[in-house]
Amino acid sequence: GVVHRSDELVVPRARVGRVPVGVSSRRLRIVVTGGAGFVGSHLVDRLIERGNDVIVIDNFFTGRKENLVHLFGDHRFELIRHDVVEPILLEVDQIYHLACPASPVHYKYNPVKTIKTNVMGTLNMLGLAKRIGARFLLTSTSEVYGDPLEHPQKETYWGNVNPIGERSCYDEGKRTAETLAMDYHRGAGVEVRIARIFNTYGPRMCLDDGRVVSNFVAQAIRKQPMTVYGDGKQTRSFQYVSDLVLVNGLMALMDGEHVGPFNLGNPGEFTMLELAEVVKQTIDPSATIEFKPNTADDPHMRKPDISKAKELLNWEPKISLRDGLPRMVSDFRNRILNEDESKGI
Ligand code: NAD
Ligand code: UDP
Ligand code: UDP
Repeated sequence: GVVHRSDELVVPRARVGRVPVGVSSRRLRIVVTGGAGFVGSHLVDRLIERGNDVIVIDNFFTGRKENLVHLFGDHRFELIRHDVVEPILLEVDQIYHLACPASPVHYKYNPVKTIKTNVMGTLNMLGLAKRIGARFLLTSTSEVYGDPLEHPQKETYWGNVNPIGERSCYDEGKRTAETLAMDYHRGAGVEVRIARIFNTYGPRMCLDDGRVVSNFVAQAIRKQPMTVYGDGKQTRSFQYVSDLVLVNGLMALMDGEHVGPFNLGNPGEFTMLELAEVVKQTIDPSATIEFKPNTADDPHMRKPDISKAKELLNWEPKISLRDGLPRMVSDFRNRILNEDESKGI
C-alpha cells in the first residue's frame, strides 16, 4: 500500500539547489561573498536586476558600502558584515565566492590573512555549498599561471608560480582554492564553477587600489606622473568590467553546465608603456610618465586564450581598452573631486 510520510511535501533544500537553474524566471537566493568590492558590486546589481534575492557577505577590507548604497532598502537585498574565514549558516541556491583582495598592494598588505581568506574562506563556502546543495562559483585568477612560459595562456597550462615569493599568498592561495573546489566537486558532489579572471578595470575600483589602470587614471586626472614599474615592456590584457559581468561571463558560467576552469578576459594585449599612452590620449595629452623599480616576481606577459569560453559559454568581451577607459574616467573624476572637496583643496 501507499505509505504517507508527514514530510513528503517538504523538498529537502539540498535537492532544490540541485534543480538545473533557469536563468531569469525563478526567484533564486544567491550569496555573493566580496559583494561590496569592485567586481562583486557590479555582479550584485545585475543579479538584483534579474529579480534574484541577494545576500552580500563582506568584511569591508577593500570593499565599500558606497558601492551598494543604492540597494539599501530594496527588500531583495541583504548585507552581512562577516569574514569568510569564519563559518556561517545560510540557506541559498547559489554562492558566488569573490571575497579576496585582488590588488597586489592589498593582498601583500597582510599575506597570511590573504592565504587564510583563500583557503579557510573557500573551505567554509564549499562546506556551506555541500550542506545546503548550492552551486558554487569561484573567481580564480590569471595569476594561477604565474610568470607564464606559455603565451597566450590556455586553461590546460599548469603555470609557473613561485611558491615562496611575495605574490604566493595570492597565486598559491587561488591555486589551493581551485584544488578545494575540484575536490569538493569530485568527493562530495558539489556543483562547482571556476572562472580564471584576467585584469579587469572599470568604475568603482578603489582609487588607491594600486593596480595599474586605476593608478594611471587617477594620476593623469590629478596631474601627477604615471608610475611605470620596471621598463614598462611587460604586458597585460585588460577587460572592461561590464564584459565580465554585464555580458554575462560569470552568470553564464554559473547557470551553465560546464565546471571550467574558464579564462575570462580580453585578449587585447598591451605593454604598460602602451597603456600609459592610451590613458594619456584619453585623459590628458600633457600627461607624463615616471619610471619606478618593478615589484618582485612580476609576470612578464599575460594574455588569455578565450577559445574555450567562446565555444562553451558563447561568451566574448566586446569593449576594447580605448572604448572602456573613458567609461571609468567620469567615475574617477567625481570621486577625486569629492575627496579634494572634503580635504578643502
Ligand atoms: P576587491 O578588492 O574590490 O573586492 C574584494 C572584496 O572581498 C572586497 O569587498 C573585500 O572587502 C572582500 N573581502 C576580502 N577579504 C574578505 C574576507 N576575508 N571576508 C569577507 N570579505 C572579504 O577586488 P575585485 O577586483 O572586485 O575582485 C573580486 C574577485 O575577483 C577576487 O576574488 C579576485 O581575486 C578576483 N579577480 C579579480 C581580478 C580583477 O582584475 N579585478 C582579476 C582576477 C581575479
Ligand atoms: N561550514 C560553514 N557553513 C555550513 C557548513 C560548513 O561555514 O553551513 C564550514 C564548516 O565550519 C567547516 C567547513 O565549512 O569548517 C567545511 O565543511 P565540511 O562539512 O566540508 O567539513 P567538516 O566540517 O567535516 O570539516
Ligand atoms: N604597474 C605599473 N605601474 C603601477 C602599477 C602597476 O607599471 O602604478 C605594472 C606592474 O608592475 C605590472 C602591471 O602594471 O607589471 C600590472 O600590475 P597590476 O598591479 O595592475 O596587476 P597584476 O597583473 O600584476 O596583478
